[in-house]
Amino acid sequence: MSLEFRGVSHAYDTQAVLRDVDLTAEPGAITCLLGPSGSGKSTLLRLAAGLERLQQGEILLDGRTMAGGGVDDAPESRPVGLVFQDHVLFPHRTVAQNVAFGLARGRKAADRENVRAVVEEQLAAVGLDGLEDRYPHTLSGGQQQRVALARALAPKPRAMLLDEPFANVDATLRRRLREDTRRALRDAGSIAVVVTHDPEEALELADRIAMMVAGEIVQVGTPAQVWQQPAGSVVAALFGNAQRLTGEVQGGIVRTRFGTIEPTGPVHDGTVEVIVRPDAVSLARAAADATFAATIDDVRFLGDGCLVLVPAGDEVLRAKLPSLGDLAVGDRVSATFHPAGTFVYNC
Ligand code: ADP
Ligand code: MG
Repeated sequence: MSLEFRGVSHAYDTQAVLRDVDLTAEPGAITCLLGPSGSGKSTLLRLAAGLERLQQGEILLDGRTMAGGGVDDAPESRPVGLVFQDHVLFPHRTVAQNVAFGLARGRKAADRENVRAVVEEQLAAVGLDGLEDRYPHTLSGGQQQRVALARALAPKPRAMLLDEPFANVDATLRRRLREDTRRALRDAGSIAVVVTHDPEEALELADRIAMMVAGEIVQVGTPAQVWQQPAGSVVAALFGNAQRLTGEVQGGIVRTRFGTIEPTGPVHDGTVEVIVRPDAVSLARAAADATFAATIDDVRFLGDGCLVLVPAGDEVLRAKLPSLGDLAVGDRVSATFHPAGTFVYNC
């Protein structure tokens, strides 16, 4: 049982936006499709929902072709539930009527009680019990998004597709909404694909992260795998507020403006891109004859540590230290880079 994309490519006019995408999402594990804006994430979801016509490849649900090879199921006959960034609720229907919408079509009067029960169950699942009779305009953005989620879940679709569902919700409410959405999706037990451009959101929500860059899936793994073993500099740079530095490799040692690195993976001589997370950097006062040293320019208090800014040439090293110790603005320092948060790639 799965939602499966096989060799899906797509172009708008002459602009190719998806390139040979293979991806399988299974029930019981929330898949986040993570990638920068414009990388093709929405297009992939729209193709699965039938809102965009498939041009190449195949999309299967539970082993049955929904699109491709001459098949093109109508959107309404695909057992998928959709939630978008803009909650498109019916303004003149109550919360309960909105949720019942997908259920009510073609039902007999005898089913009405059942519809009521399902609506109540779904509203409870998204934490909205008691709001049945309210109208959408009387709800907060987060509550409206919960209604949209309940409405999509109500017909018990085989697959739930969510496209940046929290983008328009206040930052303070977003975390709670993510947690509740994750629980509701898990309890529903359906296949779930959530699109986001926010790496933090993907880490919080996903059991599996599929990284999309310029229309290609470049890595699929657990949150821990993509964090610890990013497949390339683009993925590495996404997580943990990472920064890019340049380096030169000579005899297996990477030299940056701020200190040297012994790479853990294979690199060859020449220029390299160094992706470093600020909390993987330590600073120590530089010896008088240090080759690689720079001066602390600023220190920012972060609550759980401090961020130290060390400019050199056209680069600024950002080091997140648990405490400043005896260092201060104006000190010359050298950096040590911890392998767990430092990634080196030949250019
Ligand atoms: P994402 O959701 O990752 O931001 P999209 O799938 O929305 O990416 O878009 C991928 C690329 O396709 C972008 O360059 C976007 O401008 C373009 N695009 C999206 N929809 C259309 C459309 N209907 N017509 C033409 N170009 C489009
Ligand atoms: Mg999008």
